[in-house]
This record gives sequence, C-alpha cells and structure tokens, in this order.
Amino acid sequence: MTTHTRVDIDSTADHTAETVTRLRATFHTGRTKPMAWRKQQLQALRSLLTEQQDILADALHTDLGKSATESYVMEIGFLVREIDHTLRHLDRWLRPRRVSVPLSLVPARAWTVREPLGTVLIISPWNYPLNLALAPLVGALAAGNCVVLKPSEVAPATSAVLAHWLPRVLDPQAVAVVEGGVPETTALLEQRFDHIFYTGNGTVGRIVMAAAARHLTPVTLELGGKSPAVVEPGADLATAARRIAWGKFMNAGQTCVAPDYVLATGQAGDEIEAHLTDAIREMYGTDPARSDDYGRIINERHFDRLTGLLADGRTVVGGDHDRGARYIAPTVLADVDPDSAVMRDEIFGPVLPIIRVPDLDAAIAFIAGRDKPLALYAFTASKRSKRRLIAETSSGGLAFGVPTLQLAVHGLPFGGVGESGMGRYHGSYSLDTFSHTKSVLDKPLKPDTLRVTYPPHTRRKDRI
Ligand code: NAD
Repeated sequence: MTTHTRVDIDSTADHTAETVTRLRATFHTGRTKPMAWRKQQLQALRSLLTEQQDILADALHTDLGKSATESYVMEIGFLVREIDHTLRHLDRWLRPRRVSVPLSLVPARAWTVREPLGTVLIISPWNYPLNLALAPLVGALAAGNCVVLKPSEVAPATSAVLAHWLPRVLDPQAVAVVEGGVPETTALLEQRFDHIFYTGNGTVGRIVMAAAARHLTPVTLELGGKSPAVVEPGADLATAARRIAWGKFMNAGQTCVAPDYVLATGQAGDEIEAHLTDAIREMYGTDPARSDDYGRIINERHFDRLTGLLADGRTVVGGDHDRGARYIAPTVLADVDPDSAVMRDEIFGPVLPIIRVPDLDAAIAFIAGRDKPLALYAFTASKRSKRRLIAETSSGGLAFGVPTLQLAVHGLPFGGVGESGMGRYHGSYSLDTFSHTKSVLDKPLKPDTLRVTYPPHTRRKDRI
C-alpha cells in the first residue's frame, strides 16, 4: 500500500513537472506574446461559454444545484462580459505609456511597457467553480502568459468539463488543466511559477504563500471573511431586506462576498427581522426546499458545520434542514451573542445572524475590532454615515444599497485586504496582476550631457 501510494505521488510529481516544463518552453518561444494570439484565446473562450452554455450549466447544477438563471447571471454571463470588456480595451491597456523625464536628463525619452510574467498557476475554489477559474484565466491570457489551471476537486463536474474543453478550444501548448485535490496541488506548488493566483480559504492561502516564498514567486490571494451589512433606521428597510436576502441566499449562501451578518443600528434591529422574513418568502416561498431557485450545500462536511451553527440564536425564519438532500433553509437568527461560533468564522452558508448595536459609532467599532472583511455593505439614507464608513472602516470593497454587485462593475478592482487577501483583479487590474510593468529609458549618446557628472569630481573645472 505504502509503495503504491509512493508510486502515485511520484508519478503525479513527474507529470506535473513535465507539464510545467512544457509550458515554460512554449513561453520562451514567444508564441503567447502577440496581440493576435491573446485575442484569439479570449474569443475561443467566449465561444466555449456561449456555445456550450447548457453543458456548463448542467455541471454547475450537478455540483451545486444552481438554477440555469443563476448560473448564467453569476458565472457564464459574467465571464462573457468580462471577456468583452477585456477585448474592447486590450489595445489601449497594452499601449506603452510615456513618462516625462526630469530636466536634468533631457534629451531622453521614458516610458513603460507591460510584459507577460511567464507561466502562471491559477488555483480555484468550488463555490463559483466556473467564474473563479475562468475570470483569472481571462486576465492571464490577455497579459500573454502560459497558464496551469487547477480547478477545485470539490466541484468535480465543473472540473471535468474544464479539463475536457479548455485544451480543445484554447492553445494546448500554452494552457493546461490539472485536476485533483491536495496531492496534485501540493505537487504543483513544488514547481516554480512566475505568479500564483489562489482563490479560497486563508488556511490554504498560507500554504500557497509559503510554497511561493521558496521560489520568490509573487502571489494573489483572493480569500474570504465575515462581510457585514450595516442597516440604519431611516433607510428603506423593505428594499434593504430584499437585497440582503438576495445577496445572502443566492448559491445557498456559499458566496465569498455574501453579506455574512446584519449589523443593525438602533431601531433598525426591530424592523429588519420582519422584512427579512417577508423577503425570503417572496423569493423562495414558504417551503424553499421546493423552490427551483434555491441551491444546496456543497457536501456533508459543510452541511454538518452549518447545522452546528443554527442553535446560536433565536430562529426568526428557516432552520429546517435535510442532510440527505444537503438542504438548509434560508435562516435568520436574532439575539446572537457576538462571541458565539456563528460570529467567529465566515459562515459561507444560508444562515444570517442579526447583531444589534446602538448607533453607527458602535457599528464602526464592531467592524474595526474584527478582521478586515472582503466586503462591507451599508443600507443608510444618511450621507454623513456613508462618508464616515468610507473614511473610518477598511475592507476589500464597500457598497451602499446593494450587496455583491461591486463585482459587476468591470472598472472596479476586486480583492481583499488583510485577512481577506492581497492583490486584485478584473478588467485592467487583471492585466496589472498578470504583467510586469517594465520601465524603459532611452537617452541618446549625443550630445553627452552627462559629462559633468563623471568623475573625477574634484578637478571638474580643469576638464571643462
Ligand atoms: P476549496 O476547498 O475548493 O479550496 C480551494 C482550492 O485550494 C482548491 O483548488 C483545492 O484543491 C485547493 N486546496 C485545498 N486544500 C489544499 C492544500 N492543503 N494544499 C494545497 N491546495 C489545497 O475551496 P474553499 O477554500 O473551501 O473555498 C471557500 C473559501 O474561499 C471561503 O473562505 C470563501 O470566502 C473564499 N472565496 C473567496 C473568493 C474571493 O474571490 N475572494 C471567492 C470564492 C471563495
């Protein structure tokens, strides 16, 4: 048994090393650098998304019970728009940028050029298994890199679809999909890459960063955290509740930017409970188990973790669950102790605690006392509150009036800060992530204006 396992590990490592060596060789030929190659790859990826939409949606349904509409809006459609945005602006993003030179250096010209990094590794998670694998891939290809993509083994149907289709539609000499879990990812992390882009939890983020340090490889870590939704009295709480419920319960709460908990100030705490109950009933009916629009928990391990949190407060709505179906009803908990388990780690499931604080000062102090979240949401009618939240809190992103949609604005960077991650991507920010910005200076040899700076300095007058 031991020998057999050893052989498997060795062959995984050999195969991985071969794949990376092959891609590095491709990169050194210069094949991936021309604009035409980059655009062709993006077009091919776009065609895959539009032509094989049903196969992709089926895989997402198999893995996560996602409805076809949700798969289109949050994964397939999102990616098509990201590709279109990139294709529209790529020429401009890649144009050399002139920089003015100081008078003391004139005559000279200075500019920056973006060059691809080389061969990059993308490791993606299971919760939006298509979006979070392919959105970084769009940036990596647009920047002219070779790419190894490691989809999540926790969403096996989507992983299999990516492994089947990507080498068929993209340049197989430049793009490889490596399927697998911890052993395969560990073998990949032994290799030297020019960038590692990881999306997932902070524990594995630390493993990735430690492995990258051995080769001095830069990393992007797209992690999670507890993203609060501040709700203030005076806001339209019925609409706020609908939007919070929508952002929280899509994909059964398994969304990195979902509101993790409601942080209600003053009287909003009383009112929001009933509004959230109404919103959940409007969207998923009185028995969400029968709604086609409501997803399932990815596996039993997460199901058990989540049901263990249900006793951490008074159940306002929901609480039903069925292990065989991996179903947990959209659940709102009130009277929650801020030190309880449900408030300790990111929930990443359909459980929404309400924490009550007296006012905005207390809300800001509550947020500041915890890890920096990936997103902060606020529902308020007060411009002063908005200004204070912008100035006095830190988070990967901040959105007023709506959760999650900061991701849909292609001009905005997406990424975390502190415990929620490092680095950013989407649109031109993906180009920044997957390129090196090289500085270029061109100073003519004639006239030699630098003569005054050459040594010897003490006898300068004699020389002139
Ligand atoms: P996951 O279990 O799919 O793991 C992510 C990747 O890490 C997978 O490809 C997996 O194979 C690999 N991996 C797992 N264990 C490993 C190990 N020991 N060594 C090397 N690689 C390993 O997904 P997950 O981490 O459960 O994803 C959920 C987390 O990701 C949540 O915290 C969520 O907030 C976060 N997330 C963040 C974003 C974002 O964009 N910032 C998006 C989605 C999810």
